Amino acid sequence: MKITDVTATLLTYQIPPERQWRTDLGVAKKTDNVIVEVETDEGITGIGCGQGHAEVLKATVEGQLKPALLGEDPTYTERLWEKMYSGSRYQPSLDRGYSQPGHSRRGDTLAAIAGVDIALWDIHGKVLNQPVYKLLGAARDRVRAYASGGWAPGDQAETELGGYAAKGFTAVKMRAEGRDGFSFEKSIRRIKAARRGIGPDVELMVDAHGSLDVTTAIRLAKMMEEHNVAWFEEPVSPDNHAGQAEVRRATSVPIASGESEYTRFDYVDLFEKQAVDIIQPDIAIAGGFTELRRIAMLGHARGIRFAPHVWSSGVLFAASIHIAMSAPNCHLFEVSQGTVPLIWEMFEEPFDIRDGYVYAPNRPGLGFTLRKDLKKRFPYVPGPNYVY
Ligand SMILES: [Mg+2]
Repeated sequence: MKITDVTATLLTYQIPPERQWRTDLGVAKKTDNVIVEVETDEGITGIGCGQGHAEVLKATVEGQLKPALLGEDPTYTERLWEKMYSGSRYQPSLDRGYSQPGHSRRGDTLAAIAGVDIALWDIHGKVLNQPVYKLLGAARDRVRAYASGGWAPGDQAETELGGYAAKGFTAVKMRAEGRDGFSFEKSIRRIKAARRGIGPDVELMVDAHGSLDVTTAIRLAKMMEEHNVAWFEEPVSPDNHAGQAEVRRATSVPIASGESEYTRFDYVDLFEKQAVDIIQPDIAIAGGFTELRRIAMLGHARGIRFAPHVWSSGVLFAASIHIAMSAPNCHLFEVSQGTVPLIWEMFEEPFDIRDGYVYAPNRPGLGFTLRKDLKKRFPYVPGPNYVY
């Protein structure tokens, strides 16, 4: 079996003004997807998705990665990951047993590698007629879900987060900064309101998207303690692992992070600095199935839990389900409450989410079929996704 073509298709969903949400990231204007398709001489096509600058990803997939992939056996996922990551030195990398990457090994390059890797695993599952999570080694058939949203200002957080709990979610996540902007008082008022809305037994998490400095994050974390916050996510910049470790040492609230980290090497640094309690790699950013499997195991070896970051695309929702079913340390699964039809309207088959759980699809590969009219329904629009 040989790879005959690799393509990247750009899609955009423009969020209607009345449904746009605001956080510390700015106002969410649109969502882009880069859908990667890997074709083979046996008629099996795999689908993947990368996350980053859409046009850069397309150029990287079709211009840089495709020539290295043509003619290769798509089921050799480790070999092809090394070939994409170490480039011209992939053969000595495999012969000597350590990677020898060149320049441009992180950022959008890694995201493009992730998009291809997801498609390769989809093909492998279809070839063996098994869902990807069984190829990886199944740990479970369902995983507890958490509702991810929480942008409402002030006391409105009570009905917003309470509404998620009413849908059956036993864990919910809110933003540290809502539509009313950031101050300690505003943040704590919203956290108190959320706790009133969900009651004492539903887990409550708070996400700062790396927007705070160390002293601010420590002060806010200490204020969160009495409200039983289950994790404080990305309290400081992902470029400041030492600062995140300082926050972690200063509070009893568990620290979660990882959606902005690339490769297992970034995670090794987080672990060495003792900066994290729950890791949250994004499969489209950190390096696809091949790399997420390693990251999950590195965390598992240290007793660190795993809750993948899941946002923006049905392909990534599907891929994340499979890694979640396989990683023994995965305890929670993110289900977006934002307006993201590129998650829910991407496939012919619906996702199975019931009673606060996400269930594994029992079909080969990722287990989902792209709708035929995606390009017409979600035509690509250039420009930033968030505007501050
Ligand atoms: Mg986050």
